[in-house]
Amino acid sequence: MGERLALHGGPPVRGALLPYGRHLVDDDDVQAVVATLRDGLITTGPAVARFEQAFAEVVGARHAVAVSSGTAALHAAVFAAGVGPGDEAVTTPLTFVATSNAVLYQGGRPVFADIRPDTLTLDPAAAAAALTPRTRALMPVHFAGQACDVEAWERLARTHGLVLIQDAAHALGAEVNGRRVGPGAGLTVFSLHPVKHITTGEGGVVTTDDAALAERVRRFRNHGLASDAGTRDAHGRLWSEMVDLGYNYRLTDLQCALGRSQLGKLDRFLARREAIADRYLAALKDVPGVTLPQVVPDARHAWHIFPVLVEPQRLSADRATIYAALRAENVGVTLHYVPAYWHPYYAARGYARGLCPAAEDAAERLLTLPIFPGMTDQDVADVVHAVRKVAEHYQR
Ligand SMILES: *Cc1c(COP(=O)(O)O)cnc(C)c1O
Repeated sequence: MGERLALHGGPPVRGALLPYGRHLVDDDDVQAVVATLRDGLITTGPAVARFEQAFAEVVGARHAVAVSSGTAALHAAVFAAGVGPGDEAVTTPLTFVATSNAVLYQGGRPVFADIRPDTLTLDPAAAAAALTPRTRALMPVHFAGQACDVEAWERLARTHGLVLIQDAAHALGAEVNGRRVGPGAGLTVFSLHPVKHITTGEGGVVTTDDAALAERVRRFRNHGLASDAGTRDAHGRLWSEMVDLGYNYRLTDLQCALGRSQLGKLDRFLARREAIADRYLAALKDVPGVTLPQVVPDARHAWHIFPVLVEPQRLSADRATIYAALRAENVGVTLHYVPAYWHPYYAARGYARGLCPAAEDAAERLLTLPIFPGMTDQDVADVVHAVRKVAEHYQR
């Protein structure tokens, strides 16, 4: 019964592979970059501050510092939080490795606490139980674009004298309790990679309401030099003093021009992601063996990705087969994520399997469906068709 799966030689739902995410660049984005290239400084020029100011306004934070990637933003945040050798930062295993790697860069030790099985975000109770006298920072991730309970995390950080570092790489535009993710006493980190909400090719931003933390991040992205040329001249000095061990993590004016142009489209991009998610939530709600993401009330989901959970007891195929079957239909499903500590680098440093059972269970069952603003209604219909076709085939 039903259609023959492409995996078994039938015709695929689509002729060409639909990726899980993709940037959308319009002509005016191109114009903004070209204009900067023609008559502006191409790095460390005025487009950087303009982008930073626009970004700060969009998320409602006092300060935004643009850096060369989301990973650089995480590194700068971990540095600014004062995490050093022997210090611990508590984070989720269900994230891209860049989150915990940033702690390792500074000689610290990432401590993985388990996730909530409903939202798949770091469980504040599990994080609280993982605190030790060496803990300096909390690093929740707004997984998939669903904002964590930021107020609960701020409370936990305040109670224990910790710095809150939010990995908001998935969550530009996400809101919780009427507030966008971005402002706050700690540091919030965004990525501008092409699969994220807006792009600069590569890029990242750190936001904070704390002027001193913002200044530490600014120094860190520029070799740890204490001042830019303007303030140096004002002090009558011939050189800038290096006071921290920083890096070259600067974002160019070309990229910032693109970023500012893209930022103007954020609402449109978010609305399209939301419309696609709503379509999936309605059209896939009774598909056998597929559990849809749970959306918390009083929040605005930014829908960076659309993760579903496969229910093995309701299907006659395992997750790998479902993945292969959807790929054969030319639907570019993918996996976000395996637990960070399953990677060989972490395993070799003493992180054992079984550490976070809820994250491991999710990691064995997750699949990410395509969602990005450039998807057409036909693309969305193809995904729905393919998921139904495959799930119904393997239903038991
Ligand atoms: C994308 C991403 C990063 C890293 O951002 P880059 O800009 O690719 O360096 C960090 N954390 C999470 C959760 C991400 O999704």
